[in-house]
Amino acid sequence: MIIKKIGVVGAGQMGHGIALVAAKAGFSVILRDIKDEFVKNGISHIERFLDKSIEKGKMTINEKKKILSNIKGTTKLMDLKDVDLVIEAIFENIKIKKELFEELDKICKKDTYFASNTSTIPITDLASVTKRPDKFIGMHFMNPVPLMKLIEVIRGLRTSDKTAKLIIDLSEKMDKIPVDVNDGPGFVSNRVLIPMINEAIFCLMDGTGTAENIDNVMKLGMNHPMGPLALADLIGLDVCLDIMNVLYEGFNDSKYRPCALLKKMVQAGYLGRKTGKGFFDYSK
Ligand code: NAD
Repeated sequence: MIIKKIGVVGAGQMGHGIALVAAKAGFSVILRDIKDEFVKNGISHIERFLDKSIEKGKMTINEKKKILSNIKGTTKLMDLKDVDLVIEAIFENIKIKKELFEELDKICKKDTYFASNTSTIPITDLASVTKRPDKFIGMHFMNPVPLMKLIEVIRGLRTSDKTAKLIIDLSEKMDKIPVDVNDGPGFVSNRVLIPMINEAIFCLMDGTGTAENIDNVMKLGMNHPMGPLALADLIGLDVCLDIMNVLYEGFNDSKYRPCALLKKMVQAGYLGRKTGKGFFDYSK
């Protein structure tokens, strides 16, 4: 099957970026969110990104027009009835994701493929609410979507080889580098990244180093572009805690226990950049 039309569900931080890269690759995109203002907001973010690309001389006005003409916004789920692929990027909540896929399973064509951009929810579990688990896969884009090359392509237990190949080819068409992995708590990206961040928080709690020095060790010694604590502030400490909990519960292994300081920071409302304070101060 050839993918021509893609439905992107959720026009937030990830969804609008996914719509942009799909439209830029020449696909016809339907971008759906629950409220008109969310759809408009997503599209205006896309316009802003394209305007910046024009300012930097990376794009022409005609290219911008062509990309925008490939995207149609909607609040109606029914508008996705004839898409060839749905990429879901709604809230990281298993219940609402399952409800959405159950509905999509009824609305969409039998041969439509389903992909979820979930950061942590098992693909096998999401696929189980549909009658097409063989056509269900994880497409874990990185943030910010237009700039980051990786798509972690996650095969659920029942994902077919045909589906995986199709999604890998499609990811390349979107000018991304797909990496093929299997389902498991946190997949590869968050299973490796978030425990590293958690360990950095243990170092801070134990007094092994100051926040600045812990980050400097990782930046200067390991060539990380950003230290783990600054990265935690960027991701959001609540999101980091949620992911540690998924790993802890998913593996039933104490090595994934979230650091007490991380829990305390979240309880205090110090969530990182989005609240102006995390391990570093962003209020000034
Ligand atoms: P976000 O809050 O910015 O956007 C989510 C959007 O989904 C909102 O606009 C919301 O109105 C919409 N939505 C909720 N329910 C909906 C429904 N039933 N139909 C249509 N739209 C609906 O969230 P985000 O950061 O874009 O994250 C989206 C997904 O991507 C999550 O699963 C998250 O784990 C994953 N993800 C996020 C990042 C990141 O860095 N933000 C990175 C990789 C993956």
